[in-house]
Amino acid sequence: MSVISENLQAVHASIAAAALAVSRQPHEVLLLAVSKTFDATVVLEAAAAGQRAFGENYLQEALDKIAAVRSAQPELPLEWHFIGPIQSNKTRPIAESFDWVHSVEREKIARRLSDQRPDDLPPLNICLQVNISGEASKSGVPAGEALAVAQAIAAMPRLCLRGLMAIPEPTTVVAEQRAAFRQLTTLFEQCRAAGLPMDTLSMGMSSDLSSAIAEGATIVRVGSAIFGARTYAH
Ligand SMILES: *Cc1c(COP(=O)(O)O)cnc(C)c1O
Repeated sequence: MSVISENLQAVHASIAAAALAVSRQPHEVLLLAVSKTFDATVVLEAAAAGQRAFGENYLQEALDKIAAVRSAQPELPLEWHFIGPIQSNKTRPIAESFDWVHSVEREKIARRLSDQRPDDLPPLNICLQVNISGEASKSGVPAGEALAVAQAIAAMPRLCLRGLMAIPEPTTVVAEQRAAFRQLTTLFEQCRAAGLPMDTLSMGMSSDLSSAIAEGATIVRVGSAIFGARTYAH
């Protein structure tokens, strides 16, 4: 068995354990394999082990990889999620090539994605990224503005608002991890109470996925625990 397929099994076991510990079903949590910095061969290896959803941060790298994977295995039903920072002049290729975007943090970006989503594709699935740590330097819409921006996105014709995403301040203290994720869950529940039909909480990475699942994550975005340490930086 390959290292990647062993790692995938171990991550699935962690997801299952974290879910069962809080009386959730393991299948309620989607594993998004974050393949940024790894090439198409690595994606194909994970796909051969059954992985279907892949997350990418860097647009040009992602477009090249998606094309390479499609030409190697045109029939493979993979799902591509964009999770990196979005420049407003780069929205078109994102709208054309991805199934999900987790890193929408401005209404203007969402509007462009909706305008540019091709008519022959289903609506683009969107998570609104929220800055739950509240620091000026961090990405994401401020928590206090999230509901209004989410309502605006929900009204856009070529988007399907699925939920919220956050990347909290890294910490190894479980209680702090859980407190940060709980803030996003609370906001998610407020959005649902306001009538938004959200079903997705994208939170948790390799080092804090158990805390995220304990607080209600439905997608965990996991890179290094599957693919190993990233060896080049952008
Ligand atoms: C890189 C990245 C991840 C995966 O991080 P790991 O620590 O390698 O699991 C998840 N989410 C986002 C937004 C990322 O940029």
